[in-house]
Amino acid sequence: MSMLSEIENQILRGISAAKAYQHVENICRFGNRLTGSEADNKAADYFAATCSEYGLYTYFEEFETDCFEPIAGELSVVEPESKNIKYIPMRFSPSTSKEGITSELVDVGAGKEEDYREKDTKNKIVLLTRGFEETNFLSEICIASKHGASGVIVANYESWPHHGVLEPELFELEKRLLPIEPNPIPAINISLEDGQYLRECLLKYEKVKMRLRLQAITEKRVTQNVRCLLPGTMLPEERVILGAHHDTENTPGADDNASGLGVLLEIARVLSTHPCKRTIEFYSPGCEEGRSIGSWEYCKRHKSDLRNIVAFINVDMVGGGGDLCIITEGRWPDKKIITPEWLCLFVDKVAKELNYKTKFAANDIGTSDEGRFIDAGVPAVFLWKPCDVHYHSMLDTPEYVDPNSLKVVGEISGLAAWRLANR
Ligand SMILES: [Zn+2]
Repeated sequence: MSMLSEIENQILRGISAAKAYQHVENICRFGNRLTGSEADNKAADYFAATCSEYGLYTYFEEFETDCFEPIAGELSVVEPESKNIKYIPMRFSPSTSKEGITSELVDVGAGKEEDYREKDTKNKIVLLTRGFEETNFLSEICIASKHGASGVIVANYESWPHHGVLEPELFELEKRLLPIEPNPIPAINISLEDGQYLRECLLKYEKVKMRLRLQAITEKRVTQNVRCLLPGTMLPEERVILGAHHDTENTPGADDNASGLGVLLEIARVLSTHPCKRTIEFYSPGCEEGRSIGSWEYCKRHKSDLRNIVAFINVDMVGGGGDLCIITEGRWPDKKIITPEWLCLFVDKVAKELNYKTKFAANDIGTSDEGRFIDAGVPAVFLWKPCDVHYHSMLDTPEYVDPNSLKVVGEISGLAAWRLANR
């Protein structure tokens, strides 16, 4: 039996799959939204301008953070064959000299300590294979550096290079940029097929020589969180937040996370004509990739009024297939982030009422923006469809985003926010 009121039915019918999807296409047209880049700023502006069109009050809150931008580079086999190979640098990889490095190649399997036994890797480029779901490679790079390697190539287990990162991926922000020890060496990502090609070369020839050149900038840049407010009619100082980050891992970011932005903008459009008792804040943080630094900044800046936040619903990667998950727990190597049970059950109840299936799940690769809010004492939950094979790759494009999935998540998160703002 449906418990939906007439006005709730109107809101649900109003959310358009096609309009949400149109936002995904529009946002991806700006280019890869690497934190602090022009495309990233354009996406933030687009979000604010669209909300402003719907009559919401928009604010930009700027902050400075470490940014990484690749400028140029090339990877090639130079001896005995000659072949160029496409690569993507690890985020925060050191650059090579202008000329690059030319070294012999050594296969070190998974790249763990035991894989170096009986191998001479001094001044050589090592080739290692990405473990399943592995995205952070600082420890492997340090092991390679300890064994004297001059550079590291990580081959993906899929047909494209994964955007791996050189961060230890610990929750604590101070540990974001730990040094590569004992010597900083460049590290890059290649595809499965190119990894197989290199391994075949190593079997065929006694020696394989490679050249790696990488020029990248690591510097502080300004980026921003965007806040768009639909003021409450009775308790305007209390607020419910719907969130979706606008930056990407130097990928097109259709699912991660233009999908969330599309969902939020559709909810904003529909709710703009149905104001609630409490304020609803449509929030798009910057610099989520890595350590949710935008949301960390938000919680610092708004420390004195965090208690006015009834709940934060984070919508990140919701355009793909597979299970729609309500994340009950985020797991960092140094911290567990637990979602309040009442909020998980609340969102699940809304989904059930709409006849949509959700699944409770833990997030084994950390948290998204909700993690910073939970850590600051704000009830926060994460809606996520984790089964996206194109995660953090150049194939995260609009053609793989399902408009109907945007509508489903729009209905669930929109109705949950509406009820939290009116109860
Ligand atoms: Zn994301």
